[in-house]
Amino acid sequence: MKSFERIQPKSWEDAALRLAAAREKKISSEAKGAGTELLDRMKEYNLAPDQVVDLRRLTSHSSLQRNSSGGLSIGALVTLSTIASALKADFPALADACEGAATPQIRNAATLAGNLCQRPRCWYFRSAEFQCLKKGGVECLAKSGENEFHAVFGNNTCAIVHPSAAGVALVALNARIETLAPGGGRMLAAADFFVRPEVDIFAENALRPGELVVEIHLEKPQGLRSAYRKIKQKQSFDWPLADAAVSWRAEGGAAKDVRIVIGSSAPVPFRAKAAEALVEGKRIDAALAARAGQAALEGATPLGKNAYKLPMVAAVVRRTLLAAAGLPDGTEEPA
Ligand SMILES: Cc1cc2nc3c(=O)[nH]c(=O)nc-3n(C[C@H](O)[C@H](O)[C@H](O)COP(=O)(O)OP(=O)(O)OC[C@H]3O[C@@H](n4cnc5c(N)ncnc54)[C@H](O)[C@@H]3O)c2cc1C
Ligand code: SF4
Repeated sequence: MKSFERIQPKSWEDAALRLAAAREKKISSEAKGAGTELLDRMKEYNLAPDQVVDLRRLTSHSSLQRNSSGGLSIGALVTLSTIASALKADFPALADACEGAATPQIRNAATLAGNLCQRPRCWYFRSAEFQCLKKGGVECLAKSGENEFHAVFGNNTCAIVHPSAAGVALVALNARIETLAPGGGRMLAAADFFVRPEVDIFAENALRPGELVVEIHLEKPQGLRSAYRKIKQKQSFDWPLADAAVSWRAEGGAAKDVRIVIGSSAPVPFRAKAAEALVEGKRIDAALAARAGQAALEGATPLGKNAYKLPMVAAVVRRTLLAAAGLPDGTEEPA
């Protein structure tokens, strides 16, 4: 790893100013949460900043705050394990997404903002030996190469799958992401936070250089139901092959404002609009969930080695809908 200067900012505002000042002086500088992803990339020579601005010891934006209407603000520095244990009852989709990510040791350190801003796991992107489109090269090497873990939707330009499980749940829950920058912060819908490669090939989110995530806001409409499920190759820690999060409002037995979001399948958490339209306004049962799983495949463009993911996407959407409805999905342990 290249040597770097570690900056300990006094406040979030100071952190944002330090990042801006470095940019003006043409010094490369990166924000760091727990560092579980950033330091990996530095060790792999995927990234070699001159400065690291360490947010981890800041005391603000590090807790969960509930409001009187059941809504919630989650500080950028809250860990995945805190979210997993604190939000099971209110926001099970987010709690389960955080609980299933990585290993207990990583979840105890990893921050929610770091999870949302982590870079893709595409092996061509991570390896210092390859210069693909995302690193300024001329082509996506995965499309004609080793693409078994790559995107089956929206993969025309760059076929990464977005790595954040929490992001899948936050898009399903229609969360808002609050940012801070020297020129003023913004409030972004989670769905607008993540950007497609066609919008920016060099980034996976809408943050401007030096802009920081400070808080994630969730509303809890009456009757909110949500769930997250994933399918992975091995049952110990592993990245999902396919995952999904759903949410809706239960109204007179029917599902309203349905959101179905697929993960590990596209460069951004991917809304399955055809499946949402199919389920909207109906009572969810096993037959409807199975049809929604099939509808979720609309628009899929699998690559040479990843068509095996399609039945997994259908299955995980079906299972997630049934889980949110409190119905068995056939994978339960026998009593
Ligand atoms: C073996 C393994 C398995 C894993 N499996 C999963 C999985 O199944 N699902 C999943 O979702 N994740 C998984 N992960 C990834 C893990 O969840 C991330 O490494 C972790 O969430 C990153 O959080 P962090 O605080 O350490 O971020 P850091 O490593 O500190 O930062 C990551 C990125 O976010 C940026 N950043 C950090 N904080 C901010 C902020 N406040 N504002 C703007 N930018 C910021 C940094 O600059 C950096 O680019 C896995 C990791 C490993 C090693
Ligand atoms: S999927 Fe994206 S990151 Fe991977 S090789 Fe293609 S352009 Fe590069």
